[in-house]
Amino acid sequence: MCDEMLAGLARWLRAAGHDVAVLPRGSSDAMVAAQARRDGRVLLTRDRDFAAPRAAGLDVVALGADALDRQAAELSRRLGLDWLAAPFTRCLVDGAMLEAALPEEVPEAARARGGPFHRCPACGRVYWPGSHVRRMRARLDALARAGTAG
Ligand SMILES: [Zn+2]
Repeated sequence: MCDEMLAGLARWLRAAGHDVAVLPRGSSDAMVAAQARRDGRVLLTRDRDFAAPRAAGLDVVALGADALDRQAAELSRRLGLDWLAAPFTRCLVDGAMLEAALPEEVPEAARARGGPFHRCPACGRVYWPGSHVRRMRARLDALARAGTAG
């Protein structure tokens, strides 16, 4: 993924459990293409004129939509993307797979409502189920429904 306009989409893809790499602003098309090829990733971009050659097994999806819901529907349609693949198993910020955390690591107010609790091994963020997760889960459900609606 090579466009900061897609940062919101990246966060939602991670929430759904997908492995997403976002390259920094200023990365050249060639750099982005090289990393996608090296990692075996599908390359998502807003740039319809993406300059890298599409040959050599590189999958490029140029998203036309601005709004998350429409971007999500495009991905569902073009890649068969599953928005409920493995919800809340990855860090939303860096995409690392979460590990189990101890209740002591969670703020007391959140701990009282019960787990499971998770920690990101890369950045140390701690995650717990709460109203935010319920809202995000509802949105993932909606994205999944939109993707199968046709
Ligand atoms: Zn993290």
